[in-house]
Amino acid sequence: MSELPGIVVTGASGRMGQMLIRMVQVSDKARLVACVERAGHAWVGRDVGEAMGGAAVGVVVTDDPLEAFAKAQAVVDFTSPAATVQFAALAAQARAVHVIGTTGLEAEHLAKIEAASRHAVIVRAGNMSLGVNLLTRLTRKVAEALDADWDIEIVEAHHRMKVDAPSGTALMLGEAAAAGRGVALADARVSGRDGITGARERGTIGFSAIRGGDIVGEHDVIFAADGERIVLRHIATDRTVFARGALRAAIWGQGKKPGQYDMMDVLGL
Ligand code: NAD
Repeated sequence: MSELPGIVVTGASGRMGQMLIRMVQVSDKARLVACVERAGHAWVGRDVGEAMGGAAVGVVVTDDPLEAFAKAQAVVDFTSPAATVQFAALAAQARAVHVIGTTGLEAEHLAKIEAASRHAVIVRAGNMSLGVNLLTRLTRKVAEALDADWDIEIVEAHHRMKVDAPSGTALMLGEAAAAGRGVALADARVSGRDGITGARERGTIGFSAIRGGDIVGEHDVIFAADGERIVLRHIATDRTVFARGALRAAIWGQGKKPGQYDMMDVLGL
């Protein structure tokens, strides 16, 4: 039992955190060794099983990430960009695999994550599901096959609590479309049109975001030409698809060389 990789879940009380804790607990491939929440959170100091409304599981939620990471082989992290950057340095120090699901990371965050990956294994993906990673592959292939007569638009929908837009998944799909077309996304990206925008500029990649209710995550990649249209669509109905992918990444990362990996590597796509 003790040979199973020990997992720390950060953001323990979050939507993804709770899902992950439940998944690790029933897994026969990993064990839960610690749970981290931000300082001052009501769960700190409580048994995580009880905090989630069930029986005690013998793991007390801490606000000390370094102490938690020191006992772990992997840190599974769905929190916020500021927390994730801090965790990347600490996970590298503890030589633990850092699985990053957090989205909304800006260039300054990514640079720090890159620096940490010189010393540790980091698996980062804007979406950890098998379906979306396959969709990313398909998007690139379709974009490779079509020229700029085909306008590319990415439409995403998420629950009302989501704080960043476009979603990490939409950006991942945009990167794949741009790579397929041989352009940089930064040069082609157009987000959130409003008002008198003028006609659509040829070759751009557009992003639109819908926010409402409890939508788990929906993404359409639209290739629209004169007289015809291709729509590639993924719908996530349950967060377990992300948690399952993240746990798989934590186990896959054991014994790998330091560096940054993504779910394509984990899934062998
Ligand atoms: P959430 O708000 O429900 O949970 C985030 C949790 O992180 C909260 O409990 C918060 O208290 C905690 N947190 C914040 N700062 C912290 C710190 N310094 N130390 C410890 N804990 C801290 O959000 P969520 O819906 O669970 O999503 C979290 C992140 O994961 C978002 O960026 C979201 O976009 C992303 N996400 C990614 C995927 C994927 O497959 N990659 C899937 C779903 C969500």
